Amino acid sequence: MDYTLDLDEARRFDQQDELAPFRKRFVVDDPDLIYLDGNSLGRLPKATQAHMKALIDRAWGQQLIRGWNLDWMEAAERIGGKLARLVGAHADEVVLADSTSVNLFKLAYAALHALPERHKIVTDDLNFPSDHYILQQLTRMMGRPIELCVLPSSDGVYGPSEDLLLAIDEDTALVTLSHTVFKTSFTYDMRAVTEHAERAGALTLWDISHSVGAMPIELNDCHVPLAVGCTYKHLNGGPGSPAFLYVSRQWQDKLVNPISGWMGQRNVFDFELQYDAAPGIRHFLTGTPFVLSQAAVEPAVDLFLEAGMDKVRAKAERQSRYLVALWEAWLKPLGFRLNSPREVEQRGSHVSLGHDEGLRVDLALIHDQQVIPDFRPPDNIRFGVTPLYTTFEEVFEAMKRLRSVVSEKLYEKYTDAPAVT
Ligand SMILES: *Cc1c(COP(=O)(O)O)cnc(C)c1O
Repeated sequence: MDYTLDLDEARRFDQQDELAPFRKRFVVDDPDLIYLDGNSLGRLPKATQAHMKALIDRAWGQQLIRGWNLDWMEAAERIGGKLARLVGAHADEVVLADSTSVNLFKLAYAALHALPERHKIVTDDLNFPSDHYILQQLTRMMGRPIELCVLPSSDGVYGPSEDLLLAIDEDTALVTLSHTVFKTSFTYDMRAVTEHAERAGALTLWDISHSVGAMPIELNDCHVPLAVGCTYKHLNGGPGSPAFLYVSRQWQDKLVNPISGWMGQRNVFDFELQYDAAPGIRHFLTGTPFVLSQAAVEPAVDLFLEAGMDKVRAKAERQSRYLVALWEAWLKPLGFRLNSPREVEQRGSHVSLGHDEGLRVDLALIHDQQVIPDFRPPDNIRFGVTPLYTTFEEVFEAMKRLRSVVSEKLYEKYTDAPAVT
């Protein structure tokens, strides 16, 4: 597509955008602030404000302990069931619980425990640090030697897709990757990797933290046995909202939960001392549900169900293509590198631009230019497009301000910033 890259064009894109009305459903406290970090913490939906107020005032304030007889116990499964529709799963395959890290631990342990003859975990060096830390610890606690095979990306942007296929063998118990990687936005072919692992008899555990709410995901259709993800990024569930875990029906009763708590017990309120795992997804629960923070996830998920993931993704592609066109015309000549895949279908919903002065540029954007991206070392400034509330005009304006930060050297006042390594 040929762009004219002027303000009129950006405004025309917004006028033609059928998702544009969704922006009004979010709190936009400061209309001059361009927020491009919804891939890290999404905006607050207006429906969530009212929902939380009612929950706090009426359910907690008035009902007290009787609130547990409302819907507090079932909410993790009910909201998980809605989320399941966004990720191509059955309602009884997804549940809200804990943090992504804890869920990853539970499911990675479960996979290694289920395949005791196998000794290898396969991942890559683009995966999220917390995922690495969990896997490192798991290699020491399974009671048998476990090799953690970390495949390097050849260029720091694309995942090592081909090496991965070669590394997965009959000694591999677990393949675990970020579907969309947090720094560069590279997105794996979920089906190809999962089916390859399945043929080798290995279990695949996808971390979909950066892709859920950004694109349609087909966990069942891709034969995915295990997945985890968080709800506070693209899904707009709020700071500290609980994560979710997915276990396909086929695997639910074959796997053990290493943190077997009372919420996973068959009859929770019998208070039996002997653990007896509940059937289905429920035995992956551990402790008391996070009633308040999980409630905030529901109105947020409802917005995506209303908008439809196909439309969200189609707009994200239009916006990220547009952003890359602005980079090429304005920013590439100023020393910015595209630290994300060039092909839109291999990108998630954020674009990373690298610059030698990346951190200082990021600080100037935030403190002087009313633009909020985020920074990931060594040089990545990440710009997230979140189609339910990001406008084309915002993308245009943000790139224009980014250009002036570098062409007018406005970042130079941030001399005290820690050195970019
Ligand atoms: C954000 C993110 C997490 C967060 O993990 P928590 O335990 O919920 O803090 C994990 N994995 C990936 C890939 C992420 O992007």
